[in-house]
Amino acid sequence: MNRKQALLSKLPNVDETLRDQRLEDFFDDTPRELIVEAVREAISEERKRILKSCDQEIFFDDMIFFDRIIEKIENEKRYNLIKVVNATGVALHTNLGRAVLPESARRNMMEIAAGYSNLEYNLKKGSRGSRHSHVEELICRITGAEAAMVVNNNAAATMMCLAALAQGKEVIVSRGELVEIGGSFRIPEIMEMSGAHLREVGTTNRTNVSDYKTAVNEETAAIMKVHTSNYRIVGFTEEADLEKLSRLGKEMGLPVIYDMGNGLLMDLSEYGIDEPTVMNGLKQGADMILFSGDKLLGGPQAGIIAGKEELIKKMKTFPLARAFRVDKITLAALEATFREYLDRDGAMKNIPVLRMLTESRESIEKRGALLVKELGKLRHFSAEVVPVTGRVGGGSAPSAELKGAAVRLVGDIPAEKVERMLRKGSIPVIARIIKGDVYFDMRTVAEEELPLISDAVKAIDGAAEDDAGRKAK
Ligand SMILES: *Cc1c(COP(=O)(O)O)cnc(C)c1O
Repeated sequence: MNRKQALLSKLPNVDETLRDQRLEDFFDDTPRELIVEAVREAISEERKRILKSCDQEIFFDDMIFFDRIIEKIENEKRYNLIKVVNATGVALHTNLGRAVLPESARRNMMEIAAGYSNLEYNLKKGSRGSRHSHVEELICRITGAEAAMVVNNNAAATMMCLAALAQGKEVIVSRGELVEIGGSFRIPEIMEMSGAHLREVGTTNRTNVSDYKTAVNEETAAIMKVHTSNYRIVGFTEEADLEKLSRLGKEMGLPVIYDMGNGLLMDLSEYGIDEPTVMNGLKQGADMILFSGDKLLGGPQAGIIAGKEELIKKMKTFPLARAFRVDKITLAALEATFREYLDRDGAMKNIPVLRMLTESRESIEKRGALLVKELGKLRHFSAEVVPVTGRVGGGSAPSAELKGAAVRLVGDIPAEKVERMLRKGSIPVIARIIKGDVYFDMRTVAEEELPLISDAVKAIDGAAEDDAGRKAK
């Protein structure tokens, strides 16, 4: 028997391994199947590794073997959707879940999720009620709309509006506003899906009201204006503003739909965020305005349709309304978020998105200083607070430059490697890399999260020290 065969015959089998006390604790709270699976996999991997390696290099390390099994079990037990620390500074990071919800929204979601609710039950009458009723009045009070309803997201809102009002007919849109948002939302494609026909007018950089007017014919069902949320056209440009389009709509007896996206309910121009607000859109005469719940509004993923009562009524009974309806947990979060806006000053403090986007550089720097202090003395890195410029994200306010601050980590380990290790921790930290250094942008990091970053960095620092020690030996 050669060494390979000898080693293979000595490999522990599944039953022996399962009896090992190192796995004992797992049996209390882990399905047995999962442990058996991890053991099987680890043994099979060992077998393959031994068969592949050349004779001199073969070994079997019992410690490594069990570490691998435990790692497998822990990986399997971990949820797939997990918390991460957003140290990118992008408050509306679409890949990281967009808006962080206000405390009130989180509490209300828990309450409603944990038991029964009057979701579609009218408590006054003791009979069937409407799920829209919980937020409609509130949305109207805050935005000034006559009526409102909520669907899954703004994409669904757009799709439904077009289908309900313009199936088989034409909708006029400017060539400068045929937007794509985040890959799969494209105005021409949504339009096609809805069964409405896109009637493009104007040019990429210039469209005026008379372009819309000349395009109107007996097939026209609506005029749509789309906010170019995630890009700006600059230079020799012209667009028909909403006010003029609304006047044209009235003149021609056509509804004007405004897909505005961001859902901003407060004027943030003094903070460098020059975006339209929902109220302004309605004041300028849009018959229907569509926006997301989880962008600048700062709530859960949702699509809000607000505007003229007769149009909204049509939407509510449209068959797609059922397919696009939101669940009770979303409604719970959305109602609580809208309630925050009843007190404007409170909203700025209590809605995380607004708080993050309007926080001053000085205030952000303070959190950076706390992190530097918590990091203390590191062997392989030095950390300092530096000014950075950030973005809003989520395809909103693309030209806004937010003055913020970050903690820069300079060290002898490549930034890409550090970034990768941060990403693979049990609570991953998503950092920025700028010119070869790792940055923790403090705008989107809560004070309570600072220990998560410092523990992660210290662990990397420690691992580097172990590596260095091993090499020196
Ligand atoms: C973001 C956006 C959408 C898509 O909204 P979702 O809520 O992500 O579906 C549609 N239109 C505009 C103008 C947007 O900005």
